[in-house]
Amino acid sequence: MVEKEKDVLLLPLTEADRIRYSRQILFPAFGEEGQRKLRQAHVLVAGVGGLGSPVAIYLACAGIGRLTVVDSDAVELSNLNRQILHGEDDIGEKKVISAAPKLKRLNSTIEIHPRAERITAESLPGLLHGVNLVIDCLDNVETRLILNEGCVKAGIPLIHGGVYGMMGAITTIIPGQTPCFACIFPREVEEKRPFPVFGFTPALIASLQVMEAIKLLAGFGELLTGKILYINGEMMECTTAPLQKNTACKICGGGGG
Ligand SMILES: [Zn+2]
Repeated sequence: MVEKEKDVLLLPLTEADRIRYSRQILFPAFGEEGQRKLRQAHVLVAGVGGLGSPVAIYLACAGIGRLTVVDSDAVELSNLNRQILHGEDDIGEKKVISAAPKLKRLNSTIEIHPRAERITAESLPGLLHGVNLVIDCLDNVETRLILNEGCVKAGIPLIHGGVYGMMGAITTIIPGQTPCFACIFPREVEEKRPFPVFGFTPALIASLQVMEAIKLLAGFGELLTGKILYINGEMMECTTAPLQKNTACKICGGGGG
């Protein structure tokens, strides 16, 4: 019902849109309707670092209508091997303030909302208002658990990505249908900080997150729901493992079928 109402409201593309997005519109399962759905979408990118930089770039280029980018940190020299939205001139600047004009330069037809805030249980409901999809580009389990709980409560899909060294993992969480992040990581774990990471590892996982996002928003293809994809770049191996709901999960209750 809600989907139908949304479809009715899909606005036609402009001539410039048809040219800008022509190569992706050519993809049969996507087409003009897929493009119109992207323009109608509001995606929140949580974290504008190694994962969030390429995620925000590819979402902006793909024509997501509204992008909210959230990060409370400032750019540091040690970020520059992987956080490709930021350069030497941006050191000391808030990451979202550094990111917003570059995203706007890539695509001036979309809205960019920079939010230099910490993601907390208190700030999250306001950040999620009107959002259709959240991309988890964070770097710590504590904040991921907060983000997961907010998304589960609000019924908003969440695409999780994580990296370490040359390894990465990705899964798509649909509240009420799939296991949630807390089913997989029930509590905070001791995290070694700083952890090793190259630039190409988050670039790879970020690309997969955007691939999932486009399919989810446009409504085609198979999603990484109820399973997790692991990539080990050092051994050049990819594996997919099924995920189980934790029936004792305090966040999603392990229910939902
Ligand atoms: Zn759960």
